Amino acid sequence: MLDTGPLQSGMTADDALHKAFPASQSHGHVQPHPLGHKARCGGPALCSQCQRERDFLAGLGQ
Ligand SMILES: [Zn+2]
Repeated sequence: MLDTGPLQSGMTADDALHKAFPASQSHGHVQPHPLGHKARCGGPALCSQCQRERDFLAGLGQ
């Protein structure tokens, strides 16, 4: 489920991001990977996965 609408009450942007994009699957550029990994994907400028995370945060006003 991808909820890009207004945040639910009591939910932070980080909570919403982690719910939409599990941190363990993150490339580490937009949200930190729990183990500190950073994929060599080029970050949000080049990588669609990172772009989705960045755009999700942008949609939350972050
Ligand atoms: Zn990436």
